[in-house]
Amino acid sequence: MSIVVAIDGPSGSGKSSVSRRVAQRLGLAYLDTGAMYRAATWWAVHEGVDLADTGAVAALVRDMVLVMVVDPRGPQVWVGGIDVTAAIRETSVSTAVSAVATNLDVRAELARRQRAEIAFQCEPGSWADGRGIVAEGRDITTVIAPDADVRLLLTASEEARLARRAREVHGSDDAAAVEATRDQVVRRDADDSAVAQFLTAADGVVTVDSSALDLDQTVDAVLGVVER
Ligand code: C5P
Repeated sequence: MSIVVAIDGPSGSGKSSVSRRVAQRLGLAYLDTGAMYRAATWWAVHEGVDLADTGAVAALVRDMVLVMVVDPRGPQVWVGGIDVTAAIRETSVSTAVSAVATNLDVRAELARRQRAEIAFQCEPGSWADGRGIVAEGRDITTVIAPDADVRLLLTASEEARLARRAREVHGSDDAAAVEATRDQVVRRDADDSAVAQFLTAADGVVTVDSSALDLDQTVDAVLGVVER
């Protein structure tokens, strides 16, 4: 029996760390779909394609050789034979990614690959050997896997999300670090809302608010929902 767990949420909601831990605890594969949009962005910049040229970016992404390593203990992202796991987290990618994620032809191509990966991990012989997958992003509960066994929206107050991002990016959540993060996080939420509704739960989606929870507590809350 395989299980598909779909988790959506905005940046700084803790969704990647939580999804990875949940996948690890359940022995499931882990798919970070945001990393796929980041990889597409990195590749377009690397290949010198103008991100405003939507046709050229879409054509590039259709031919992109993208490998997602779905082991939750050490997920990796490879594009065109290059390990871009670290590079896709750089600020230059974070600031450009919404331009690529709002390209509807790019979304269609990545959606196709995401659905294929989810189906594959439910088959014997895959990394998860048919046990299933935790897939996280912005539109997994609504567009990519609306029939998932478990659908969750991980939220957190803007204050909590900014503090988390500031610690990640600047190693501190003092006032200056939070301010330096605010513009990026708030702007990206606004840009992303154009293509995916992820700030309020769709019908049948369970909301977990992590504002007052640490990582372990949030993982336990999510596992509680999965085991319901
Ligand atoms: O989750 P992360 O912040 O790494 O996602 C990077 C970007 O990828 C988001 O800001 C959004 O533009 C895009 N994205 C998306 N749909 C998803 C996952 C991510 O549009 N399912």
